[in-house]
Order: sequence, then structure tokens, then C-alpha cells
Amino acid sequence: MTLSPARLDRFARHIVLPEVGGAGQVRLAQSKVAVIGLGGIGSPALQYLAASGIGRLALVDDDVVDVSNLQRQTIFTTRDVGHGKAVSARRWLANFDDALSVDVSDARITADNAPAMIAGADLVLDGTDNFATRLAVSDACVAAGIPLISAAVGRFQGQVGAFAGHLPGAACYRCFVGDAFDAEDCDTCADDGMLGAMAGWTGTFAALQAIKVLLEGVSTLGAPGWGQLHILDGLGPAMRTIRIAKDPACRACSSAA
Ligand SMILES: [Zn+2]
Repeated sequence: MTLSPARLDRFARHIVLPEVGGAGQVRLAQSKVAVIGLGGIGSPALQYLAASGIGRLALVDDDVVDVSNLQRQTIFTTRDVGHGKAVSARRWLANFDDALSVDVSDARITADNAPAMIAGADLVLDGTDNFATRLAVSDACVAAGIPLISAAVGRFQGQVGAFAGHLPGAACYRCFVGDAFDAEDCDTCADDGMLGAMAGWTGTFAALQAIKVLLEGVSTLGAPGWGQLHILDGLGPAMRTIRIAKDPACRACSSAA
């Protein structure tokens, strides 16, 4: 694959980085990322994933844009209120860069349909807001051998983790949270509140980690950091990193150990 002169111009600031380069940019153009959840994390993540020239995107969200989303879900505008998030995200993407190919789904992701939603992806970025969905996405990623960047945010704290449970010695998201949350347990931000820019920091940091994973082996941007969970504190501000160990009893990934 070679990049056209127009694409070389568009991504010139990437290509000049020794840590990305032309080979890295080609890798991004050949990559497919599934973004699950187009809310406070998925919106800014999608903006930077699309801006980085990732060639194929699959967007999944069953929700409709509400006026209260606009304080942090940066791809949506007042005109999108009442419209589906998935189709509104596709509209944003078409305006932003029509060279990128996009699949959208407005189905609610479940354990049954998650494998189809992420099929063919090189990486999944999950920014959904409940444990049942996150676990369904994680289990599907382990089964399909697809790396997962899982991100969450509330109030002034964000979390971004890189999981590759299909690899020996690497934890999956279920190793982190266990089985207790399989029930529908929505840790919604409606009651607790959330600073919009905090979702932006968490979402864009998730996009950065995703790009690192995609460029593994063709660039020197850094290791994916499997099993590392970065905790972002917006009040400090501060960031710390904890390590999630693979759970030998994990029912999603232990057989892959
Ligand atoms: Zn696991």
C-alpha cells in the first residue's frame, strides 16, 4: 500500500515523527478499529482515531443524542439531539474525512452479538458505561484474539487499560473486574456528574494507547503495556499506573494461558 500525495500531506506531521514514519502511517491506514460506545469517551477517541488516518472504523452505539450529552460528547451538535449516536457519528466522520470507511450499528451490544460487532477489527476501543457490556466486549475480544483498550470515566477520575487476554500471561478485562458485575450495573454519570474535559482527557488518552497498540512492530512509539491500567486524576492533576495480573481462574482467558 502506498499513500497518495493528498494523504501524505494530510498526515505529514505524523510521518515526520521517527516514532511513526511512513510505515506507521500505512499501518494506520490499513487498520480497522471498532469503537464501542460513542459517548464521553468514544466521541473524543473517535475524533483522534479518525484524525490519525485509521482506514476503517466500526461504530457501535444504541443510544440517541440527548441535550445533556453535549457538555462532553464532542462529535455531536445541537442539531443531532434526538438522532441516533451511531448515525450522527457517521455524519461527523463523513464531513471530517470521506476517505475513511465506516460501518455503524445502533444495536445494543450483548454477549450474543459482540463477536459480530468486533469481527475483523485489529483493535477494540470500549468506552461504554456499564460492566455487563464491557465484559461482553472483553470476552469477545479474548475469543477472537483482538486487543482491547477499555476506558471509563466518572467525576474527575479516568481509567484506561490495555488488555490482551488471548496472550499468555496477559490479563483480560474480566481478570480486572471479576464476574460480579455481569448483572446490568450501570455506573451512570447522571447522578454523580462529570467534568466534560475529564472525559476528553480520558478519551484522547485511550486513542493514544490504541495507536500505540496498532503501531506495535512497525514503529517505536512504545510497547502496548498489556495489563497496565492508567488512572487519570483530573484534580491533582496526576496519573498513576497499576498492573492487572492475569487471573488463573478467569473464565474468559484462563484457557488461553
Ligand atoms: Zn481474564
